[in-house]
Amino acid sequence: MSQETYVLDEEKLASYPQQPHGGKLVNRVLTGKERENAMEKAKKLPMIMVDLEAVITLEMIATGVLSPNEGFMNEEEYKSVLTKGRLKNGVVWPVPLSFAPVGDRNEQIIETLSVGDDVALVDETYDPVAILALDDLFEYDKEFRAWHLFGTTDRNHPGVDSIYRRMGETALGGPIQLLRRVHWGPFESIRLEPKDTWKLFYEEKKFNSVGGFITGANPLHRGHEYIHRNALEELDGLLVQPLVEMAKREYTRHEYRMLSYRGVLNAYYPKERTILAPLRVTYIFAGPREAVLHALIMKNYGCTHAFIGRDHAGIGDYYDKYASHTIFDEFTADELGIGIRLFHEVFYCTRCDSPASDQTCPHDDRYRINISGTGIRELLRYGVLPPKEIVRPESAQIAMQGIQPKGVDENNLAVSPVGKTIKSIFPYYLNRSRLGGPERSHPLEAGKLTIDDLEAAILDVRSNADRIYKEIFDEFSYVTDTLRSTQADWIADARESIYQQQEMVVESLEEKVNKAADKASDEFMYQDKGEAERELSVARKIFNDIPGALRSEELEYRVWNPLPYQRYRGSDEE
Ligand SMILES: [Zn+2]
Repeated sequence: MSQETYVLDEEKLASYPQQPHGGKLVNRVLTGKERENAMEKAKKLPMIMVDLEAVITLEMIATGVLSPNEGFMNEEEYKSVLTKGRLKNGVVWPVPLSFAPVGDRNEQIIETLSVGDDVALVDETYDPVAILALDDLFEYDKEFRAWHLFGTTDRNHPGVDSIYRRMGETALGGPIQLLRRVHWGPFESIRLEPKDTWKLFYEEKKFNSVGGFITGANPLHRGHEYIHRNALEELDGLLVQPLVEMAKREYTRHEYRMLSYRGVLNAYYPKERTILAPLRVTYIFAGPREAVLHALIMKNYGCTHAFIGRDHAGIGDYYDKYASHTIFDEFTADELGIGIRLFHEVFYCTRCDSPASDQTCPHDDRYRINISGTGIRELLRYGVLPPKEIVRPESAQIAMQGIQPKGVDENNLAVSPVGKTIKSIFPYYLNRSRLGGPERSHPLEAGKLTIDDLEAAILDVRSNADRIYKEIFDEFSYVTDTLRSTQADWIADARESIYQQQEMVVESLEEKVNKAADKASDEFMYQDKGEAERELSVARKIFNDIPGALRSEELEYRVWNPLPYQRYRGSDEE
């Protein structure tokens, strides 16, 4: 067997609690003499120039991230994946790996090619990256691909747009061999390939289970953390893989995003059980299908379970709210070969006093701070730390340094309308004057909100978010504690003085009733007996509303045991 096929000891691999997708971990990375020879050969082959996205895909295939795929798909495989979400042999595979180069020069070369040829794939400096052993050439139907992959041919969809922008007319299929890995810049020293993680999880750390989590362009927030904690409760290890490939023009610089992850992980996560590694994967924007792809990628990294959030690789309104969940119903657990853990949208409920989802919290919007990745980025642009309930300061402090673009424009605005940002994080704000507060007499319109509203909402949440549950607890504990030294004396004092004041009012009114005439000489100056009696009865009723001072001696009645303590300690003597 040549060294290019397997990297892990197969016997050991067979004993691990997980197996690569399709049964084998692909390795198409050439090394040593084999690589030297292939490099020489590549220089004499027909050359096709590829863009960075294709280079990254080549590396993913070669290092086994996309196992069992060994190259770009031929037509039969490609159509099977598009129409059935499976490879020809029935193995689940959600997205096609196709290669249809663009450019006049590439197209001229493609015309000269035929099945059986080897082709050198080169970067823009004509340096060979890989060799493709051509086993198919087929017409690349963009509309067919867009429709089957995305369910739309609308070019506003970023995935559809990418097909038309990046793909040519003819697709080339065949297995590849990688000659040169991409340098991952600042992440080169912390990158992990599947061959590394399998060893790490199952040789070094002796895990029996690992949860995978792939995350997009946002700084680490408490919605992520909620899912991570669930994983760590259930499993031995957690592999967190932030994508370090630019998805959109506005984002948080990757180095800062990784550092913000590091900041929170260092402070709040068990170090030995949490592994953070960047993941370089091209964004396909395939919504639900991308969620399945990511689960299989986690599997190829050795994870036994895949943790999927609500808006996994989500894009706008092209799919149902939970499309990235329901797609998993199309496959059996055996076919996927990785435990799928789906999470509903996570928010912070100030009444529950914890992150929650509508699976776990019965309260409504009035107590909620929503966790919107876009909203969080906008707050950072405005230069304000998001509420601690949704982003830990350890994350936000670093993320704010890396946010792009920073600050506001000449109209004091960030990228999105400020009303949209407020609505995305503070769902109560349009209808209520404060978190948990009463309804406004006139609801506000999102379109009319200004930075002043943003400031008001932030300050409100900063002072009230952790007050609601605290006050509820204070109320309960005041009434319940029999160890009264835990309660402030001044509360009892205040309650006693309210009572004494009311006694004074009542005494005075009793006197007033006694002296009142049956008919008052001036009804604005004096009250007749009937009116004075009404005043007195109201004043007496107020006694009912004054809470008790609850001094410890008054609460002795609550502390009783039917049997003496000694009996519980084992003594049956009286
Ligand atoms: Zn709640």
